[in-house]
Amino acid sequence: MARTVVVTGSTSGIGLAIAKIFAEAGDNVMINGFGEVSAIETIRTGLEAGGGKIVYNPADMAKPDEIAEMIAGVMAEFGGIDVLVNNAGIQHVAPIEDFPLDQWDKILAINLSSAFHTMRTAIPAMKAKGHGRIINIASAHGLIASPYKSAYVAAQHGILGLTKTAALELAEHGVTVNAICPGYVLTPLVEKQIPDTAKARGISEEQVISEVLLKLQPTKKFVGVEEVAATALFLASDAARQITGTHISIDGGWTAQ
Ligand code: NAD
Repeated sequence: MARTVVVTGSTSGIGLAIAKIFAEAGDNVMINGFGEVSAIETIRTGLEAGGGKIVYNPADMAKPDEIAEMIAGVMAEFGGIDVLVNNAGIQHVAPIEDFPLDQWDKILAINLSSAFHTMRTAIPAMKAKGHGRIINIASAHGLIASPYKSAYVAAQHGILGLTKTAALELAEHGVTVNAICPGYVLTPLVEKQIPDTAKARGISEEQVISEVLLKLQPTKKFVGVEEVAATALFLASDAARQITGTHISIDGGWTAQ
C-alpha cells in the first residue's frame, strides 16, 4: 500500500533524491522547498510517474506556523503521515566573531528547530496509528566539527540529540526516529560554500575541494545523493523496525578517523 511521505527541502539535492526514491516506490509524497514555480511543477509532475500522488507545499521551514499548517494539510489530504523526512537545511561559513547574527538564527531555525516543529505536529497521528518513521538528515558535522561552521555544527549536533529523545518517547508506539549523517555530497549547498571557505581560509576554490572537503573523506569521493536516499528508504522499511535512536553515517570513512 502506498505510504504518505513528507520530505522537507526536497526541491534540490538530497531531499529531491529522497522524494524521488519514495515516489518511484509508488508512495504519495509531499515535496517542499524553494525554487521557481515552473521548475517545481516539472519536478512534481515528473515524480507522479511512480503512480503516487505528489503534492507541493511552499512552507518556509524557518516559520513554525507555516510548518504546522503544512503538516496539518498533508494529514487532512492523505489521512496521516507514514514517513517524515526532515531534510531542509542551509549553510553559512564564517569565523564566530564575524558570523552574521541573522545567519545564526536562520540556520538554527531551518536545520534544527524545523524538525521539532514538524515532529510535534506529526507525532500525535503516528502514535494513534501505532506506526511511523521519522528520518532526520543530519551530517558528519553532527558528530564532529569543522572551523567556521559554528551554527551548522551546533544545529547538526542538536538534531542528533532531538533524534535520540524522540526515539525514546516513541519507542513503544511503533515509531522509529533516526538520523542519517552524510559526509560531503556535491549539491548546491556544498557548491555555494566553496567560495566562502576559500575566502575564510585564504586559499583557492580548487584547494577547498582537494585540501578541505575531500581531504576529510578517506574514499576521496563525494557521497552521492542516491546513496543517502537509499538509506532513507531502508530506514522506512519494516526491516528497520528495531533501528531507532541512532544514526547511520555515509561519509566515506570521515568520522572513523
Ligand atoms: P540543497 O541546497 O541542494 O537543498 C536544500 C533544500 O532545502 C532545497 O530544496 C531548498 O529549497 C530547501 N530549503 C532551504 N531553506 C528552506 C526553508 N527555509 N524552507 C523550506 N525549504 C528550504 O542542499 P543539500 O546539500 O541537498 O542539503 C540537504 C540537507 O542535507 C541539509 O539539511 C544539509 O545540512 C544536509 N547535508 C548536506 C550535506 C552535503 O554535503 N550536501 C552533507 C551532510 C548533510
